[in-house]
Amino acid sequence: MGDTLSTPIYNKPYIGRFAPSPSGPLHFGSLVAALASYLDARVHQGKWLVRMEDIDPPREQPGAADLILNTLEAYGLQWDGSVLFQSNRSEAYDETLNKLLREKKLYPCTCTRKRLAGLNGVYPGYCRKRHDIPNQPHGLRLLCNDKIIQFRDRIQGEQSFDLSALGDFILKRKDGLYAYQLAVCVDDHFQGITHIVRGVDLLDSTPRQLYLQSQLDYPHPDHAHIPVITQSSGNKLSKQNHAPAIPLDNPRPILIRAFAALGLQPKSDLMMSSVEEILNWGIQNWSFTNIRGKQEILQDS
Ligand code: GLU
Ligand code: ZN
Repeated sequence: MGDTLSTPIYNKPYIGRFAPSPSGPLHFGSLVAALASYLDARVHQGKWLVRMEDIDPPREQPGAADLILNTLEAYGLQWDGSVLFQSNRSEAYDETLNKLLREKKLYPCTCTRKRLAGLNGVYPGYCRKRHDIPNQPHGLRLLCNDKIIQFRDRIQGEQSFDLSALGDFILKRKDGLYAYQLAVCVDDHFQGITHIVRGVDLLDSTPRQLYLQSQLDYPHPDHAHIPVITQSSGNKLSKQNHAPAIPLDNPRPILIRAFAALGLQPKSDLMMSSVEEILNWGIQNWSFTNIRGKQEILQDS
């Protein structure tokens, strides 16, 4: 039933990561994601890495990368090693694309936006037969098949996705930018990431990444997708919705609220403790058991 992700999962000491895109400052929802991946890594005596996913300059905000890193530090979320910036990783991405091209697992796509309109993002394979590299601007798509991809998410449970319903996806865009799916797989592998903890908004990226990992003979990391935080108005907290930046100067109440969003039940006197003590409380009490589902409602208080 379903696939078989033919490559093994990691059998190595825990290495986790937080991988923000510098398209704006850290908001409460991204702090919750950072905190969940941090606590899970620390509970497993693992490493916690930070990777800046700065591969989409048109969507980036000047100064956001520094601001995100300063905010993590102000909240006591100290990462191991140095931050990896994806903007320095073009060579590795090109090498990977060339390998996939040589193996005929990728094909150039010259389709215009107009041609793809109305397909809901599922590419029907118009350019599949093409193997020559055209002289005109083109994207590169991964040839997918009709496999069912199954995996067990530590929070969301058993998952099953039909790869053909997702369509052949882009690894390099026509405008020359590398796609998130490519960069994330190459770098998770490069950094030896064994465990991924991130927002459930990325759940349907996971089957794509599992498939790409198997095409590259990479082992698969373990996954846990935490609920996304929504305002009581129903809006997801995101940079696109202009979610407010979290303050740098008073991290303690926000850390306590972030614990509550993750299903932990801190006592109110924890607020009087230092940031370090608050995080230690989080490590001692960390568990996924009280996190359920896909949406955590945050009262706009
Ligand atoms: N950079 C992505 C984002 O900020 C997250 C990538 C990931 O965790 O895989 O949405
Ligand atoms: Zn095409």
